[in-house]
Amino acid sequence: MTEVFTGSFTQQEPIPEEGIEAALKVMRSGRLHRYNVAAGEAGETALLEKEFADQLGVKYCLAVASGGYAMGAALRAMGVAPGARVLTNAFTLAPVPGAIASVGAVPVFVGVTEQLVIDLDDLEAKADQAEVLMLSHMRGHLCDMDRLMEICRANNIRVIEDCAHTMGASWRGVASGLWGDMACYSTQTYKHVNSGEGGFLVSNDPELMAKATILSGSYMLYGRHLAAPDPSYFEEIKYLTPNVSGRMDHLRAAILRPQLRNLAAQCAAWNARYDTVDTGLADTPGLTRIARPEEETYVGSSIQFLLLDWEEAKIHEVIARCAKRGVELKWFGGKEPVAFTSRYDSWRYAPSEPMPKSDRVLKGVIDMRIPLTFSVDGCALIARIIKAEVSAVYQAS
Ligand SMILES: *Cc1c(COP(=O)(O)O)cnc(C)c1O
Repeated sequence: MTEVFTGSFTQQEPIPEEGIEAALKVMRSGRLHRYNVAAGEAGETALLEKEFADQLGVKYCLAVASGGYAMGAALRAMGVAPGARVLTNAFTLAPVPGAIASVGAVPVFVGVTEQLVIDLDDLEAKADQAEVLMLSHMRGHLCDMDRLMEICRANNIRVIEDCAHTMGASWRGVASGLWGDMACYSTQTYKHVNSGEGGFLVSNDPELMAKATILSGSYMLYGRHLAAPDPSYFEEIKYLTPNVSGRMDHLRAAILRPQLRNLAAQCAAWNARYDTVDTGLADTPGLTRIARPEEETYVGSSIQFLLLDWEEAKIHEVIARCAKRGVELKWFGGKEPVAFTSRYDSWRYAPSEPMPKSDRVLKGVIDMRIPLTFSVDGCALIARIIKAEVSAVYQAS
């Protein structure tokens, strides 16, 4: 009998009841805007910021409309000007180069290794081309953060971390988001907490965060924040920083607060599923698993593997055969960008030189989401299906 998987790869868990209750309360109050608070009320958004800052161990946190917005605000706060060059990953999601382009800056793409992290040799080679690195921990893979920071410090490069897939992850025990000058998170439905859309910007730098707060649309109400810099930091900044509206509202904040409290348990649940798929794929001919370094504490909300140097037709065959058995794999190696395509050469507004080593990796990356609605047994089944289909196509070639 051929086994078939029946779970949905786009179905996330429901919002916790506690979050639904809190959201109803906000709606019943009619006070949804973050600065619309009753006397003595801090508001869900300010409380969320304070709680996330405390949880991460960072001084300042600003809740915003999306992860992409957080990245744009970080670049603006750093004073990245039109025409400036910004280093970033060749393998990332479209909002990353998009944020760079949104301030009129120009992405300089840095290659990807077979471990799916930024190529630090390539970063070193390009280090003299920019003063800012927008570092995307794409698909939750953390590079050697010690070496990365060493390269950036030596070249006076400021680092913005894109932690869209690393909320809850760390390198050598130091949380992702605490390495760079600023860090951005997304609370969009497919990330580690779900408010539909939303994001966080965090930093220990009071000037950068004062600017980001005004940028986000705080007007002169920044004093109502609980995780913002002291009002003294706003004295000049408030006159000199434009309002580029991108606030979060109380409704989203209300549904995020209980999810954040439960983050560690959610991460453990992801890893139980990830590890089950990953070990199930061991010893599959033609398939390269991604080794996770000992220093890395990851959150396995998605899994990747490589079909290195495979013919395009064979990759299509694997994907089609897995799809028939209910397993939805994503491949971004084709010429034409599709769905959540994640390759530097898809973004033709940003000129790039070909990167043959990265192209080889990007042609072979297969990606799969792991929603928490999957059971661990379901994940074991998924691994059996992938292993069988990859083996069958590989052995026929
Ligand atoms: C989702 C994502 C973002 C941006 O998040 P949005 O909230 O959708 O704007 C940034 N980087 C990566 C790698 C992402 O996956």
